[in-house]
Amino acid sequence: MSKRDYYEVLGAAKDASQQDLKKAYRRLAMKYHPDRNPDDEEALAKFKEAKEAYEVLSDEQKRAAYDQFGHAGVNGQGQGGFGGGAGAGGFGDIFGDIFGDIFGGGGGGRRGPARGADLRYTLELTLEQAVRGCEEKIRVPTWESCETCHGSGAKEGSQPVTCSTCGGAGQVRMQQGFFTVQQACPTCKGEGQIIEDPCGSCGGQGRVQNTKTLSVKIPAGVDTGDRIRLAGEGEAGMHGAPSGDLYVQVAVREHDIFQRDGTNLYCEVPISFVDATLGGELDVPTLSGKVKLKVPAETQTGKMFRLRGKGVKSVRGGATGDLLCKVVVETPVKLSGEQKDLLRKFQDSLENGGDRHNPKKSSWFEGVKRFFDTK
Ligand SMILES: [Zn+2]
Ligand SMILES: [Zn+2]
Repeated sequence: MSKRDYYEVLGAAKDASQQDLKKAYRRLAMKYHPDRNPDDEEALAKFKEAKEAYEVLSDEQKRAAYDQFGHAGVNGQGQGGFGGGAGAGGFGDIFGDIFGDIFGGGGGGRRGPARGADLRYTLELTLEQAVRGCEEKIRVPTWESCETCHGSGAKEGSQPVTCSTCGGAGQVRMQQGFFTVQQACPTCKGEGQIIEDPCGSCGGQGRVQNTKTLSVKIPAGVDTGDRIRLAGEGEAGMHGAPSGDLYVQVAVREHDIFQRDGTNLYCEVPISFVDATLGGELDVPTLSGKVKLKVPAETQTGKMFRLRGKGVKSVRGGATGDLLCKVVVETPVKLSGEQKDLLRKFQDSLENGGDRHNPKKSSWFEGVKRFFDTK
C-alpha cells in the first residue's frame, strides 16, 4: 500500500508552522477518533494515518528527514503503538500521550475560561470481566455545569461583563525595561469576563460538585494498565468552558487459579503420583469451562502442557494466547498403616529393579559422589 504524503494527510502546507500542524491534527483526531466512531474501520484508518503523519511532522528532526527523503527517511518511525486495528475502538491508553498534550492545553497564556480537569478512575475487574469485556456502572465525584446559571456563573437575569482592564482578551501587556511581557490579566484572572452579580447556587464558579453514575463499556481483552477514555466526562470547566475527560484505568484482580501474562494464562494442576506414573486424563479449568488434558505416562512434576488458544485475546487484536498448565505431583498425605505398608513393598520392588526406575535420582547421587571424591 503506498502511503499518502504526510502534509496532504494533515491538509497542511509544506511550510506550515508547528502550531498549524497541531491544529490540523487536532481537527482530524477529533473527527476520526475511535471513541467517536465505534466500529468504523475507515475512520480508524484515517485516525492512524493522521496520528502517524503528526508524529513525524511534529518532531523537527523527523520532519527534516521526511522533507528530504520522503517516507523512506522516516521508515519504521511514527507508526509504533498500534497493534491489530480491529477492536481498537473505545480504549484510549495509546492515545493518552497525544491527547493529554493537545486537549490538556499548555496552561499559561491561554485565553478565556479553562477547560475542566481530566479525571482518573481506577476500575477493578475480575480476570473474567477483563477477558470477556463487560459493562460496569461507576460513580464518580465530579464538577458539573451549574443548572441555575447554565454555567455562566452570573446570577439569573444578569450577564458576565467584559473585563475593562484587558478588554476581554484575558491578557495584558506590561512594559518591563526593554521588554514587553504578556501575562494573564490580574483583574479577571485571564477569563476576559467579570461576574459582578454571582449566581447563588455555584458562588459564581459556573459549576457545582456532584456525583454521577456512568456506564463504562469495557472491551474484551483489556489488562491492568489499560485506559478507557470517556470524552467530556471529566470535570466541568469554569464558566461554561468544556469539560475534561474521564480516564478509566483498568486494574485486574488476582485470580484464584489463573495468572495472566499478556495473552497467555498459567495455572498449576495437581496430579497424583499414580496418574503421573501411569498417565491419565486430567480435568483442567479454562475460562470457558473444563477441558480434558491427556497426561502421558512417566510425567515428571513441573512439566508444562500447552493448550493452544485457551488463553486471552488481546484488546489490541492478534491471535488468542495459550493456557499453560504446569502439573505438580502431589505427595499423598494421611496414609493408613496398610497404605504405608503397600508403599514400602512398592519401594522394595523399585530397588530390586536397580537404577532404571529412578534415573534422575541415580545420576544425581553419582554427581554428589564425584563432588566429594574430588575434594
Ligand atoms: Zn450557577
Ligand atoms: Zn481582564
